[in-house]
Amino acid sequence: MERPPLEPCFVYLDNNATTKIHPEVFEAMIPHFTLLYGNPSSMHTCGGVVAKQIAGARESLATLIGSDPDEIIFTSGGTESDNMAIRGVIEANPAKRHIVTTRVEHPGVLATAKWLQSKGYEVTFLEVDRDGSLDWDVYRRALRSDTAIVSIMWANNETGVIFPVAELARIAWEKGIPFHTDAVQAVGKIPIDLRATKISLLSLSGHKLHGPKGIGALYVRKGTRLSPILFGGHQEQGRRPGTENTASIIGLGKAAALAQRNIAEENGRVKALRDKLENSLLAAIPRSQINGDRINRLPNTTNISFEFVEGEAILLRMNELRIAASSGSACTSGSLEPSHVLRAMGIPFTMIHGSIRFSLSIFNTEEEIDYVIEKLPRIIADLRRISPYWPPR
Ligand code: PLP
Repeated sequence: MERPPLEPCFVYLDNNATTKIHPEVFEAMIPHFTLLYGNPSSMHTCGGVVAKQIAGARESLATLIGSDPDEIIFTSGGTESDNMAIRGVIEANPAKRHIVTTRVEHPGVLATAKWLQSKGYEVTFLEVDRDGSLDWDVYRRALRSDTAIVSIMWANNETGVIFPVAELARIAWEKGIPFHTDAVQAVGKIPIDLRATKISLLSLSGHKLHGPKGIGALYVRKGTRLSPILFGGHQEQGRRPGTENTASIIGLGKAAALAQRNIAEENGRVKALRDKLENSLLAAIPRSQINGDRINRLPNTTNISFEFVEGEAILLRMNELRIAASSGSACTSGSLEPSHVLRAMGIPFTMIHGSIRFSLSIFNTEEEIDYVIEKLPRIIADLRRISPYWPPR
């Protein structure tokens, strides 16, 4: 395969970290850096034109997730949405001081829960099993009369494992507890229809669905009590003040419209490429395994462990061939700790250290997947040859 000289990410399989901006998203954003600079709150036409386009973006996003446009608050991304959901509900219900979440959440939720714990709130961190799934009975028992909020992700960013959030939310709703889901990895990859659920709050992020970075949204079901965590102007119904990030909101709206169109491809062609990649690697590389439930999983994600090899070493060798993925071992994600998700699943350390997450998108081709299938077995064999632990006794 010829390497294009200027493109650093040649075979980009790290789409759960971030995605390429869709060319049509970029196109839609350009006028907002040039002609359409009016403040959407202004009375004049310069602002009114922009306000109208923001309303359109809100409608596109609402259509994608099955909500009403006025249930959407634009934020700076998934992290802010997670913070706003949990802290906003807690603040609005001061008598309730218990939170339920899981051990495998993104730091946007986990760190918020831990911060609240340090302020005296009680947090139940639900365990997951080897497949990354929850125990229904344990979940039911965790919900209490003083539980202020449940926060459980729709799909895990490292393994792609999907939680049955519609059912989990219904159980919480029966007990009068608001249910928040971090759906940053799910939106745009699998169909979502919030009207058919009892979910109260949902976080999403533009840069995971071929939109810009630094923009996201929080869905807040009508009737959900939520205090603002920022104070200022009247924007976003006063729930998230500050002059709108207009270009990025337009980009997110366009990305949502495109995702609506591309979700079938994501669950067809992209899933088939993911399956080809993982089946071929499992067949070619001994002592390899998939981490997480293989059925209830995002169509684009596979997390594979290659035992007795260091994930960083695999990433570096792949990077030399301009293949981009990420590892659950350590350091690579800016953290010194091995993946908290794989540890919570009880995956042995020899497997965690050699785990690689491949996450695909509609921009990947079969040629690229064949290239990885051709190169990776050799990389693993070479690294094992210099490993003191190989062959295992
Ligand atoms: N939640 C999940 C599940 C994620 O994967 C991410 C990003 O990796 C986030 C939240 C944070 O989103 P953002 O980068 O927009 O703050």
